[in-house]
Amino acid sequence: MSGTYLGMPAFPEAAKKSVGDRTLRANLRHATRTIRDRRAEAVTELADWAQLREAGARIKEHTLRRLDHYLVQLEQAVTDAGGTVHWAADADEANRIVTGLVRATGETEVVKVKSMATQEIGLNEALEAEGITAYETDLAELIVQLGQDRPSHILVPAIHRNRSEIRDIFAGQMGRWGRPAPEGLTDEPADLAEAARLHLREKFLRAKVGISGANFMVAETGTLVVVESEGNGRMCLTLPETLVSVVGIEKVVPTWQDLEVFLQTLPRSSTAERMNPYTSTWTGTTDADGPKTFHLVLLDNGRTDTLADTVGRQALRCIRCSACLNVCPVYERAGGHAYGSVYPGPIGAILNPQLHGTGSEVDASLPYASSLCGACYDVCPVAIDIPEVLVHLRERVAGTGKGHRAERAAINAAGWVLDHPAALTAALRAASLTRKLHPKRLPGPGRAWTDSRDLPEVPAESFRDWWKKNNPGGAAAPAVPPSANPGSPEEGPR
Ligand code: SF4
Repeated sequence: MSGTYLGMPAFPEAAKKSVGDRTLRANLRHATRTIRDRRAEAVTELADWAQLREAGARIKEHTLRRLDHYLVQLEQAVTDAGGTVHWAADADEANRIVTGLVRATGETEVVKVKSMATQEIGLNEALEAEGITAYETDLAELIVQLGQDRPSHILVPAIHRNRSEIRDIFAGQMGRWGRPAPEGLTDEPADLAEAARLHLREKFLRAKVGISGANFMVAETGTLVVVESEGNGRMCLTLPETLVSVVGIEKVVPTWQDLEVFLQTLPRSSTAERMNPYTSTWTGTTDADGPKTFHLVLLDNGRTDTLADTVGRQALRCIRCSACLNVCPVYERAGGHAYGSVYPGPIGAILNPQLHGTGSEVDASLPYASSLCGACYDVCPVAIDIPEVLVHLRERVAGTGKGHRAERAAINAAGWVLDHPAALTAALRAASLTRKLHPKRLPGPGRAWTDSRDLPEVPAESFRDWWKKNNPGGAAAPAVPPSANPGSPEEGPR
């Protein structure tokens, strides 16, 4: 299980299909604009937002550099508190561990808290193969599951659905999974929420096993934290007898003081709330309350490989707030399904190719699924420089021979010419001499690019010839003219 949806086309092909869907575009435009406006207001309320963002980035960076230390500390603290820790190198191992733990209870049903990590490893499918039914209890995840759909947003997995579509899904599908939707269900939000509440309640009261992820793990006490808006997570975390949590290793933070920073930045960035309505924390087990058995499955699945990349590892700071999705012009038009993975949008474009590698067409196409406008970086509460990582990954893709054939051929030809000074001089002179004959638009597949852009005019004299004429017997022409170097020290840092 790679975390990429099987059979998905590469991003350009998938996006072409979704941008042609007017209903989808309208649903996305409405939802993303509403969330991002509210987020902007919520963030402006805090005078120290910039400092919180900086603190969040530093805490995550520090933790990632000493991940081995904090994970061992966490394991010890969880074990001391009565929990059991399992280490999973990849999705298959994590699925084997979890299905084994559920089988050992003798149960054939589990209730689930919304969890990206379990989607990443395809846990529901693995459980189903063992005869175990997993019920999603987050409202949006429930819509996705009942509709036999795929999530398209980190925070609002059913963002691509409007109210009347949700009504139809509830009315048509709830009966197949348990309590049917009430007769005459309308598409009023309160009616839809009530139908979900009634449908889920019987599952909460029946389930003996709960499965969750976690937003954070506090190393100093071995405490796991889930933040949510609906309260369904709280039911899954407290009612079952056995709780299994599958959590990516990058979710650890050293102390409660560090956690405080993220409990301020996460809700404002994701749901534009000042604090999450439900913040559930648990430390191992206790006789008086909650599950009697607790298992923590620590998931690697490509994270240590990502950690080894000094540019790309900043993606592991992500707290899954989804603010970068809501401001991204590409996501707003293409939608989450086009990214072919549970992690869509700008964070998906840098996380998927690192977790899975760039071997598949889908993963190799994702670093190009961006205009590099930088809006994602501006809103990220842990200051992940997503454009920087995208460019870095494009280099990686180009280096592995992936990418567009014509682009590769052009880069190879340019590389050869730049490597041979005599050929470069001859090419520059030939370009200058034939400048009047140059077309104004590119032929073939490049034609669309020049529909809205002018090709730059070639000067009558090349810079090298100009230099030679004006510096007879002087130094050779610099490789790059000083005025063309935006990073020159005179101009200071960006
Ligand atoms: S990359 Fe930043 S903005 Fe995007 S989901 Fe992660 S934390 Fe949020």
